[in-house]
Amino acid sequence: MVKCQNIIPLSVNYHLTRACNYKCKFCFHMAITSDVLPLVQSKRGIQMLYDAGMKKINFSGGEPFCIQRGSFVGDLVKFSKELGLATSIVSNGSLITDAWFQSYSKYLDILAISCDSFDDECNRNAGRTNGADNRSQLYHIRRVRDLCYQYNVIFKINSVIHSLNYNENMREAIDELQPVRWKVFQCLLIEGESFGKDALRDAGPMVITDKQFEQFCATHRHLKCFVPESNSFMRNSYLILDERTRFLDCRYGRKDPSPSILDVGVEAALNRSGFDEKIGKGIQKWTDKQSKQTFLISPELILTESQSSNNEKTTVTVRMLPTENGLVNVWLRNAEAGGRIGSQLAGVQNTSDLYEKYFKDDQAMAIT
Ligand code: SF4
Repeated sequence: MVKCQNIIPLSVNYHLTRACNYKCKFCFHMAITSDVLPLVQSKRGIQMLYDAGMKKINFSGGEPFCIQRGSFVGDLVKFSKELGLATSIVSNGSLITDAWFQSYSKYLDILAISCDSFDDECNRNAGRTNGADNRSQLYHIRRVRDLCYQYNVIFKINSVIHSLNYNENMREAIDELQPVRWKVFQCLLIEGESFGKDALRDAGPMVITDKQFEQFCATHRHLKCFVPESNSFMRNSYLILDERTRFLDCRYGRKDPSPSILDVGVEAALNRSGFDEKIGKGIQKWTDKQSKQTFLISPELILTESQSSNNEKTTVTVRMLPTENGLVNVWLRNAEAGGRIGSQLAGVQNTSDLYEKYFKDDQAMAIT
């Protein structure tokens, strides 16, 4: 096995709990345990990842606001922001309160709310409800959207497309809610999570074909905020840390955990989680010639060789920039000099498309 020495885990998705107040039929991170690390250990894990080069952390679950009424995730967001990380949370929104925003929103860059349909009945049929709360998911998404605007937190929406909603036209609702980004995921089966003998639920009936997913995408692709993610992209593209700070390897259609980073360190956990084999299938490995640092980058970024003026082959340079303006200035200078611009790297049509799709609001993580 090739070792992943010096790999920098730029962006990490920390599923800090599996507990959730909803019962979505398609959930692929089910409540098979109620484990949550003590706050001090979670912070130690984040500190270790930061020391290993992490720039962005996303907190998700389960439902992160189930733990200590949101103060647990709030304290981790605060800790992460004070380290200098870009911070985000994915939540179903139902437990988020104004009081939480008053205490913690200044440490949070982005809040993504999960909502798969703009028809209440469809959400309930798919299990996106706690069964007791009369207020619907649509009530919660509007309420949290307003809090995000009020407290200056970037608002996004995540939707899972499944057999009950792939025919739905969501354009009007998305236009009304105005998320900065709308991530759309194809319903995914993970052994032990959403199917198989150890699974709590069987998501089989919720699965759709690639063609059905493409049909949904075709209806919504023109929306500027629309970002689709297929099954293969999802399986190969994220560094996932579970509730015990273990990296999860999803390559084989199930989640195989590495040892905890708290026990063996970040590099050893990465080495035992299959990420070396991901390189080439999904995540790419890219080494910055100047700093000699190696990064895992999105498979959507295509690194090509170009011919320099003295006829040498050079790899196109991708740089981390601290601000959005810094990035735009590099593009402009490059374009003025007749060079390649960022948009050509990602296969999108122009600079503003690239900026909207990959960089806006997430600048610290420009190349993940
Ligand atoms: S809101 Fe639904 S998809 Fe998200 S963790 Fe809970 S049950 Fe799973």
